[in-house]
Parts: sequence; structure tokens; C-alpha cells
Amino acid sequence: MAAAWQDVVRDAAAVREAAAVAVDAALLAGVLMRTGEQPHASDVVNYAPFTLLPSAVPRALFEQAYTVQQDFNLLVDTISQNKEFLEKTLASTIKVDDFTARLFRIYMQVLEEGLAQTVFLGINRSDYMFDCGLGGPAALRQIEINTIAASFGGLTSRTADVHRLVLKVLGKTEEASHLLPNNPAKGLALGIAKAWELYGSQRAVVMFLVEDVQRNIFDQRCVENELWNRNIRVVRKRFWDVFEQGSLDASRRLYMDGQEVAVVYYREGYVPQVYDEQNWEARLLLERSRAVKCPDIATQLAGTKKVQQELSRPGTLEKLLPGHPEAVARIRATFAGLYSLDEGEEGDRIAATAIADPDRFVLKPQREGGGNNLYGEELREVLEKIKDSPERTSYILMDKIKPQPALNYLLRAHSPLQVSECISELGIFGVYVRQGQELVLNQAAGHLLRTKAIEHADGGVAAGVAVLDTPYLV
Ligand code: ADP
Ligand code: MG
Repeated sequence: MAAAWQDVVRDAAAVREAAAVAVDAALLAGVLMRTGEQPHASDVVNYAPFTLLPSAVPRALFEQAYTVQQDFNLLVDTISQNKEFLEKTLASTIKVDDFTARLFRIYMQVLEEGLAQTVFLGINRSDYMFDCGLGGPAALRQIEINTIAASFGGLTSRTADVHRLVLKVLGKTEEASHLLPNNPAKGLALGIAKAWELYGSQRAVVMFLVEDVQRNIFDQRCVENELWNRNIRVVRKRFWDVFEQGSLDASRRLYMDGQEVAVVYYREGYVPQVYDEQNWEARLLLERSRAVKCPDIATQLAGTKKVQQELSRPGTLEKLLPGHPEAVARIRATFAGLYSLDEGEEGDRIAATAIADPDRFVLKPQREGGGNNLYGEELREVLEKIKDSPERTSYILMDKIKPQPALNYLLRAHSPLQVSECISELGIFGVYVRQGQELVLNQAAGHLLRTKAIEHADGGVAAGVAVLDTPYLV
């Protein structure tokens, strides 16, 4: 990928001036986060970290990622309705991974009782890197698909304006005009509003299920405000509130202190640490309810790394999506090599290969939220230790993607302004709504570009590693 800003990136005076403008523009545009020091307060905030310059993204790969998004929506939704597939795929994982096992138990319990929910809403984000590993032109490779609490659709709706201004300050008015509009917040709200409407109760609210510590509240507020603009009432509650105030009536309508809930939008609930027994009980109550869960527990399970790995097996996509050969081909074209570490000969072989050549792979546990993956020497050590134990099954192996680095500045509060070699990860937001068996909405809702310095193998924006960015198509 050509470094688009070679002429300015080393011009210290120009960069300093542009960075000052950029930070103020971010604050003005509402690219905000609560601070680490005062994570509960909105009276002291700062800008969310972002790049000074937009990053070059190959146009063809960007378009490819948008085109395949409807296919991924269809795939995730299909998997969420396929009990046999989920059961078979996760069988080995739930033997060793307590968190996935507990989610799975709720899934089975809810199915046994019979679903009260009839309207389904999916909001996901499929993440990609541009692989240059094989020489040749860069290829789009999926990192993962996030089917629960995919974030930054709100803040990223505001970053393109900031970058447009920065480019103008740097004398690149023509280039500034090429930055694409992008408004995932609006697209996500459209899906939530559709689900709310189909649920069919004017008085019912949309409930954002949020964390105890809400540093990223402004990202969520962007989506909330879009709903208020449509005269849909939004409330913010934690699992604990659901435990205390939640109840179901005879037809399993969900009420919070007497207020009916049409849609539950999870921005929480994907890491084991948040679940004590009360929160598990609250989760079960929500899943049993008629309310539209975004996502329902089946869709959360469809987003596990184990499912991702099984999808890459020859024949699996064809079985899941019969009659959709083009969709299957588009989806498969984005897959990197993924390998099962289940007990048996196949797992033994790939474990040995990874131990011999750890830099070719990433070792991933069944976790979300960044910072869990293992690379290089650490990968080798861990795999050596667990290679003959069932614990091995709680991981998958993936080919390591090798993007071409580019120079940029990562603007972070209280950090010095310095140039870094960076790589980017492109996310496409997907939204779909299903009523019974009919998909009534299936769209790509916008994009997110996140960029990090190459010395960090792992971690997202919330983890303090990656920063918000805007694609500049080349
Ligand atoms: P999480 O659920 O924790 O977000 P990811 O699969 O997205 O897990 O991995 C976290 C980060 O690790 C990614 O954002 C990316 O930077 C890096 N990463 C993941 N898989 C790969 C890979 N195959 N090659 C290179 N980097 C990867
Ligand atoms: Mg991720």
C-alpha cells in the first residue's frame, strides 16, 4: 500500500499544527471517552484516541468487505437457528471452557422451554486485515466476526469529519474531498428501530444493557440519540438492575419495574468476569423473554472462535447455506487458515507445526475483547505445555496475517506526539432483522478502521492499543 502522506508525515512543524487542530476538532465533533481516572463521570472527558492521518486502504478490498457483509449476516443468522451445528461444533469446547458451557446451557434451556421471541435482530462487525504475507497484491482476510457488543459504530460516525479537516490543514483539500461519509450509528439504530416496530408495542422501550464502568458511553449515546430522534424511548440498565427489577408476565413479556421492554441491546455480557450467579440469573431471564435480544444467546454462540474455525472446514459453508453458492464463495474468499486443536491426529499435527514455527500462527482462546491471543515464543511455550492435555481444545490456531505497515501518528491524551509504524484493521457493521423465518432487513451499516503500532500484536481501542482511523481509498 502506498504511503499516501509521505511528503508531510516527517514535517514536524506541519504535523504539530495539524495535531492541535485535530484534537480540538475531535472534541468538537464528540469523539469522546470518559477518562481512566474518572470512568463514571461525564463532567471530565477526553477525546477518544485517533490517528492524525487517515490510512490508505485498497479500494478493491474495501468494496469486497462491504459486498460480503450481507452474506455474513445471512450466515450468522442461519447458524443461530441450527441447533445441530452449534451442538456438534461446540461439543469439544464446552467440555473444557466453563464460560462457553454456561452460555450453551442457557441456550439449551431456552430451546427446551420453547422460544417466546419471534423477532430477531443482529448487529455484528466483521473485522479484516490486509494480508501481504505472500508477496503479491494485498488480500482481505477476516480476523473475526463480533456478534455481541460490537462497538465504535457511534464514535466512528464522527471521525471522518476530523480527518477531512486535518487533510485541509495539511494542504490536501482535494484528498479531503475523497473521504467517504460513514454513519454506522444511524444504520444500527435503523435495525433496532425496525425490531422495536415489529415487536409491536408503542409503550415499550429499548434497553441498552451496559457495563458497570462505562468509559465508552458516548459511543453508545450516538446510537441512543438516533433512537430518540425516532421517538423511541431508551433506558440504560446493568445486569444487576435486571436481577433486581426484571420480571416476565404470563406471555413472557419482559418488564423492568413495570416498564415493558421491546429490545435488549447488549453492550455487555461477552466476558466471563461480569457474570456472578445473580447476573447469570438475569441473563437467563432476558433470554427466556419475548423481548428482541440483540443478540440472542444462539447468535452470541455463533460468534465464537470455535465456530469460526469450523466454518473454514471444506464443505461446512456449503452445508449451512445450500442454494447460495455465490455467497459461500464470497465468504470463503475472506478466510485465513484456521485449525482445530481438538484431541486427535489432526490437532497433534498442527500443534507440532505451530511449535516448530510459531511466527506463522496466532493461538486464540474462546474469548472476546482483545488481549487474549498468544504469539511467537509465548505461543510456543503455552502449546508445549498443553499439547497433550484436553486444555488444548479451548484454543484454536489461525494463520498470522501480515499487513504492510505505514507511518502515522497515534493521538492519545497525555502522550507525546511521535511517528509510529502502524497497521490497520477494517470492520464492517452488519445489521439484519428476521421476523419468524423471513429476513426483513439485511444491510451493511458502515465501517470502522482501527490502527495500532506494529509492536502491539493484540488489543483494540477499548484496551488502549488501537485508535480510531478513517480509510483513505487508494
Ligand atoms: P478479540 O475477540 O479478542 O477481539 P481477535 O480475534 O479480534 O479477538 O484478535 C484480537 C486482535 O489480535 C485483533 O484485533 C488483531 O489485531 C490481532 N489478531 C487476531 N488474529 C490475528 C491474525 N490471524 N493475524 C494477525 N493479527 C491477529
Ligand atoms: Mg477482535
